[in-house]
Amino acid sequence: MAETIKTQARIVIIGGGIAGCSTLYHLTREGWTDVVLVERDELTSGSTWHAAAQVTQFGANQTMVGLKRHSIDLYRELAADPDNPISYHITGGMRLAHTPAQVDTYKHYIGMAAGMGVDMEFIDAAEVAKRHPLINSDGLLGAWWDPLDGDIDPAGITFAMGAQGTRSRCRCLSFQSGRRHYAQAQRRIYRAHAERRH
Ligand SMILES: Cc1cc2nc3c(=O)[nH]c(=O)nc-3n(C[C@H](O)[C@H](O)[C@H](O)COP(=O)(O)OP(=O)(O)OC[C@H]3O[C@@H](n4cnc5c(N)ncnc54)[C@H](O)[C@@H]3O)c2cc1C
Repeated sequence: MAETIKTQARIVIIGGGIAGCSTLYHLTREGWTDVVLVERDELTSGSTWHAAAQVTQFGANQTMVGLKRHSIDLYRELAADPDNPISYHITGGMRLAHTPAQVDTYKHYIGMAAGMGVDMEFIDAAEVAKRHPLINSDGLLGAWWDPLDGDIDPAGITFAMGAQGTRSRCRCLSFQSGRRHYAQAQRRIYRAHAERRH
């Protein structure tokens, strides 16, 4: 049976990559129900599906570290859902320091993160070689070690957020098999914007 497309919503999100699906997920979590995500093709069909997939925690200010820490906690929670299993590896990772200025900078960032309860450490060159024997440690002064660095399947996490988002009354509309419906929906959205402006 043909699907009827909702013509109005309090919030319309354009695009079903990680940004759109995460917005849908977080709005739903805050209690929003009248939200529609419109994707012109398939969820993750933009740049998300071929992302390098790194999940890091490092950052040069507390806002970035806090955002990344939130992502890690959320990804761990979503990856553990048996309905949407996601390939997520927390391996630990390091950023190498070859100059005294890099050492100072990394130590500063590690101290800043410690101030918000996030555990990272500065390790010397011998410890770098121990943790990653394939690294050439000649001339190396050490590294910033983050125990929560890892990688995740970007498409998997995006679909998981989209699926969780639609467990409320929110909807995800994708149009890989219905370009005509997509064009209609786009026209309605543009019309809604045009009417608002007057
Ligand atoms: C787990 C993860 C790890 C990552 N790791 C790295 C990394 O290590 N290094 C790095 O540099 N980056 C990384 N990234 C970032 C990644 O490379 C992309 O920058 C990011 O995924 C882009 O997401 P997006 O939602 O903004 O865009 P997209 O994924 O491109 O999504 C946009 C969507 O909007 C749709 N769309 C566009 N226009 C319309 C329209 N008019 N109507 C309807 N739909 C429309 C498209 O079809 C597309 O699906 C990572 C991302 C993730 C999720």
